[in-house]
Amino acid sequence: MRVYLDNNATTIVDPHVFEEMEPFFVQKYGNPNSLHAFAGETHPYIKTAMEKIYAGIQADRKDSVVITSCATESNNWVLKSIYFEYILTGKKNHIIVSEVEHPSIIATAKFIESQGCKVTYLPINSEGLIEAQSVRDAITDKTALVSVMWANNETGAIFPVQEIGEICKEHDVLFHSDAVQAIGKLPVWVQTFNVDYLTFSAHKFHGPKGVGALYIKQGRELIPLLHGGSQMGGLRSGTLNVAGIVGMGKAMEQAVDALDFEMSDIREMRDEFEDALLEIPDTFVVTPRNRRTPNTILISFRGIEGESMLWDLNQAGIGASTGSACASEDLEANSVMEAIGADEDLAHTAIRFSLSRYTTQEELDYTLEVVKKAVNRLREISSSYAYAPEGHESGLTTGH
Ligand code: PLP
Repeated sequence: MRVYLDNNATTIVDPHVFEEMEPFFVQKYGNPNSLHAFAGETHPYIKTAMEKIYAGIQADRKDSVVITSCATESNNWVLKSIYFEYILTGKKNHIIVSEVEHPSIIATAKFIESQGCKVTYLPINSEGLIEAQSVRDAITDKTALVSVMWANNETGAIFPVQEIGEICKEHDVLFHSDAVQAIGKLPVWVQTFNVDYLTFSAHKFHGPKGVGALYIKQGRELIPLLHGGSQMGGLRSGTLNVAGIVGMGKAMEQAVDALDFEMSDIREMRDEFEDALLEIPDTFVVTPRNRRTPNTILISFRGIEGESMLWDLNQAGIGASTGSACASEDLEANSVMEAIGADEDLAHTAIRFSLSRYTTQEELDYTLEVVKKAVNRLREISSSYAYAPEGHESGLTTGH
């Protein structure tokens, strides 16, 4: 059996999405910016797809949704543009990000920091959550931007974006949220949540890879990251990825339709699977379930190196993740577990299971059996497990 439980990394392209994209490779392949019928025949499809994307995040017609190549590009764009517009010109000198943002935010923040911008990295608490008050405390009259993700890719922790949006509005500070892990799992409505900029990426909600977007609220400006032609109103040059846009439109439409299913049925399956995993002794989950996206479990098995568990799972046809970068000889600890302050042992034992609307009960039952066997096998040969201290030090809870 092959079981895919790494949906926070990427998702299967929904067959209906693929079907709608197909004609744009060998039939309707015109460049939408050309001046002939080959171009013109793509226009209605792009328009319909854009309408679906606007509807999916409840954007206003006057807002902009700019198509990019991925969320990494959208995230780079926001921070670098803020740097050029506010920091380099001396109008402001400070931005705020959470310490558990995706590397496309953290690495960009570090880059602009190296160019002279002050950056505050907001800490997470012992449950892996950001407290809105910490944003209020960090804002100064020189703060240009706050960038806090909607939900974390490792733990699934949902951050208080509505409150943060209000705090930013109160202080006249721009607010960006990376909603990559939230679309299709939570309501992401830009009007309700007071965001100025929002990042998302099609391949995380059953769309194709290589197409993302940046929502820009009306009246907010950004300096282009890619200069060139007049595509996307000159905000993002480069020939339009027609198939990608059509695919993202369809994927967004389906994500909205499936939202209730995701928030009830998938959550229920996840919860039952998690209950069963937590029956294995010495297992820990960090973020409480009601503060997490409905599809995600980050669980630690004391005494078991995450990579060893992944190996066993992979041998049995199961794809999951440790959430840590595996660099040649170095096995890095899970970054969120480290940020929480989990002890070294536990930070290396985290495994992330992320479900999707394609996950079946049969797959989870099978995975549970494989995990139980792997835990027994790996703990038997673990040099650290027998000596591991007992209890819940490190501030970890059992996830209930
Ligand atoms: N932001 C978050 C929270 C993510 O989880 C990811 C992907 O893992 C990205 C950004 C990057 O997305 P993309 O692959 O579209 O660049």
